Parts: sequence; structure tokens; C-alpha cells
Amino acid sequence: MQMLSTRGAAAVTPSMAILRGLAPDGGLYVPAAFPRFTFEEIKALAPMSYQERALFVLERFLPDFTREELKEAIAGAYGTGFDAEAVAPMAKVGSWAHALELWHGPTLAFKDMALQLLPYLLTMSGRKHGEEREVFILVATSGDTGKAALEGFLDVPGTRCCVFYPDGGVSQAQRLQMVTTGGSNTHVIAVKGNFDDAQTGVKKIFSDPDFAAEMNKQGRVLSSANSINFGRLVPQVVYYFSAYADLLAEGAIEMGDKVNFCVPTGNFGDILAADYAGKAGLPVGRLICASNENNVLTDFINTGAYDISVRDFFKTISPSMDILISSNLERLLFDLCGNDGAKVADLMAQLKEKRMYQVDDDMLGKLQAKYAAGYVNEDGIRAEIQRTWQEDHYLMDTHTAVASAVLRDYIEKTGDKTPSVIVSTASPYKFGASVLEAIAGEEAVKGKDDFACCAMLCELTATREPDQIAKLPTMEIRHTGVCEKDAMAEAVLSAVK
Ligand SMILES: *Cc1c(COP(=O)(O)O)cnc(C)c1O
Repeated sequence: MQMLSTRGAAAVTPSMAILRGLAPDGGLYVPAAFPRFTFEEIKALAPMSYQERALFVLERFLPDFTREELKEAIAGAYGTGFDAEAVAPMAKVGSWAHALELWHGPTLAFKDMALQLLPYLLTMSGRKHGEEREVFILVATSGDTGKAALEGFLDVPGTRCCVFYPDGGVSQAQRLQMVTTGGSNTHVIAVKGNFDDAQTGVKKIFSDPDFAAEMNKQGRVLSSANSINFGRLVPQVVYYFSAYADLLAEGAIEMGDKVNFCVPTGNFGDILAADYAGKAGLPVGRLICASNENNVLTDFINTGAYDISVRDFFKTISPSMDILISSNLERLLFDLCGNDGAKVADLMAQLKEKRMYQVDDDMLGKLQAKYAAGYVNEDGIRAEIQRTWQEDHYLMDTHTAVASAVLRDYIEKTGDKTPSVIVSTASPYKFGASVLEAIAGEEAVKGKDDFACCAMLCELTATREPDQIAKLPTMEIRHTGVCEKDAMAEAVLSAVK
């Protein structure tokens, strides 16, 4: 299987695509052709463990990795760091939907599913291409990705991970999660500025030849762990196969039955992985793209116009979906226009210059044949958490609630009776204050910090508070670095001395 750039550059192997991250023409790497799983093969996944399913799927998407390499990577990624043996278990939400829980990993959110595996894929890709330098991962985070990257790269030989977060710009729990990270290859630095400052600073470091030369002198090479890397996308294809296999095993569907997936969406990586699973033969019905008030994707799917020229940015209680430019959408565009790199390059240029583009009728038709979309506001999110807790006794976080509310609405409007899966992307305890407020009211959270909210949530719902949260207040703080926003490069260099 070869990988193409969405903007037309020459094809490369999957390992090269993973090593590079971004294609040299600025495009994203996508499979030139998709592997094809037969119904028989998919049926055979039902009795398998998650790790076995992962091997089965990844072998076909990553043919230039050996079976032994993939086995090692999968065992390292989906082992003791997960608190569920099933890794990505399915739960029932009343009798109307299933929830695919992707938050049983070390940081309690779905980014672990990819970031636990990526370091292995990245270092193995490096070895295949004669890269002997230490891979130095640089991340700017608004909260969640930073901790997931730190945990993923923690003590992985041949790697080092440095995370910048905005000083005062992340929640108390998010900050503690990061600054208590162990390992001998992790660095966490607060930037005096906001998230944009941190991100701008990281981008500047990436494009600074002097910095690259200094790193090279130290035997290091810079790399990124952000969600445009194919190595973050491909692990996500696995859990859609796994969800289907679980539904088969439980007798909820027969082989060949279609399943709808409703996905709380930000950068469009998670939902695109479901699309890719469908292209590889999984009987995927409709993909329902769920957004919060930052609903640029809802409008795009309903009208074909992607327009951020007249759009406010909202800070919501589902912050991991607060996004205006969904970078992985470029991969979908490439597919919709029949792998026409020039056309995608033109649309991306329009987005840069005019802050909008409109796809043609042919692309819109193909888009709407597969996708549906909806969004929900802040009150709607809280109401959904309350309702699913009251009616179905299922406790969900704010992001999952976006998908749940949008799916409920979709079913009501369309009457679609296809079995549906809500993709559940974070533990309710990761956003404990918002979840507590949703089920117990505004008064209940007044004057409480994140930990007190989680303790009360635990008491009220008799659900289990994850250890990762419970032990946080007493953990040793290991990273205290702070830097000015224009001194980030120096901060990195002195941190690794
Ligand atoms: C990142 C994230 C999302 C959005 O996923 P994308 O792949 O960016 O669309 C949704 N929920 C949670 C909890 C996340 O961390």
C-alpha cells in the first residue's frame, strides 16, 4: 500500500508518511488504495481480543511493518495503561444506542488510542529509514493532547517529548496531569501567554534552521505528534472494526448489517477513521458528525460551504471540539473529488486567502450520501448528560453528550432505525465539574475545585472515580519550568541540557 499526498506529491510508503508527518507539498498523507476486508474476515474478529483485532487491521494498512513489529507495538500500547481489558469496551445507552468507550487509557480521553501507539510506529519508521537520531517531539497544547503525548512517549527509547502549555490557560486538573508526569524523557514548560502564543512559538521553532542544526548537533531530530500524522489516524480505524466485532459477538447485529456512528468532532480525525474503516469493507451506515456551538462542520456538511470568514470562536464545556479549522477534512476532500490533488490544493488556498470555500455539486452529493451533521449548544449538552443519566443510567462527559444529543435528534428527524453507536471520547471525570453541574445543578459546583467536583460526582452517581484523577492532588510535581513566549527555543535547549 502506497501513500499519496492530498496535494499531489509523489507516493511514499506508510512508514515514510509516518516519519514525515506532513508531505513536502504541505498536503496530508492518505492511502492510495484501501485494503479490503471480506465479511468472513470481519466475522472472525468477533472472538478476538482488542490486540488481536488491532494486529489484523494494522497489518493490512501498514504493509511495510512486519508482524513482529506490529505485535510489539500493540502490546506496548494497549497493555497495562488501560483500565479495561477490552481496551475500547462497548456499553449500552438504554435500548436506543451503544457507546464505544475510548477513554480507558492513561489520560482518560480518546487521544490515548492513537498516541499510545504512535511512538512505536514513529521509532520503527525511523529505523526503517536509517534515522539514528533521537526523535524529539514538540507539542503545544490547550490541555488534553499534551498529556496524551507525554504518556505516549514516556520512556519510549529513542524519543523525547516536550510540551508547552499556556500558563494559567488550562484547568487545574489538566495542569497537574502534565506537571506530575514521570519518565526520564519528558519535559513540560508553561508559556507566559495564551494557547495561540504557545502554538505560534512551536511553529516558529519548527521552521527555524538554526534550531534544527543545534538539535542535529545533539543527535536529535524534531518531529510532531499532531493529528495530521497518518500514524495517529490509522490506530483509530481499529476501534471501529472492534466495535462492529463486539456488536456481532453480542448478537446485536448480523454480519453485513450496517451500523451508524455518531462522532463528537473537532479536527475530523476520529470520524474520518470511521470513513476509512468503511472504505476497507466495514459495513458502515451513516456517519453523523456532531459539533458544539463551533458548528462550521455542520454547515459544511449541510451546504457544502466551509466558511470561517464570519464566524465567532466559542469557548465551550466541550473544549476539545472548540476548533475552526478541521485539518483532517482535507483528507475527506481529496476522497470526494476522486484523488485530485490540484483541486484540493486550490480549495486549501481559497481557505487561506478568503477564509472560505464551496465544494461543487458532485462533491457535495458524495459527502451527503455518507455523512449527516448536527450541533448542540451548552444547555443542550447539559440537558443530554442529565437525561441519559436519569433515563438510561449512563454517565457521559460533555463531548460524548454532544454526540448523544445530535444522534437523538437525527433519529427523531429521519426515523433511521439502523443500529447506532455513540463514540464516547472522554471519561465523565475528566470534565467532572461540567458533568456534576449537569446532573446536580449550578449550586452543587459553587466554590468547589475540580477534585471536589469529582468526589461529589462519585458519591452522587456511585460510579468509579479513575485513579488517575483521585491520586492527582497528592502526586509530586516534577516540572516547574516557565518561559516568556518569545523565549521558547531557549527554554527547550536549556531543558534538555
Ligand atoms: C480531540 C477530541 C475530540 C475531537 O476529535 P477529532 O479527531 O479532533 O475530531 C472529541 N472529544 C474529545 C474528548 C477529544 O479529546
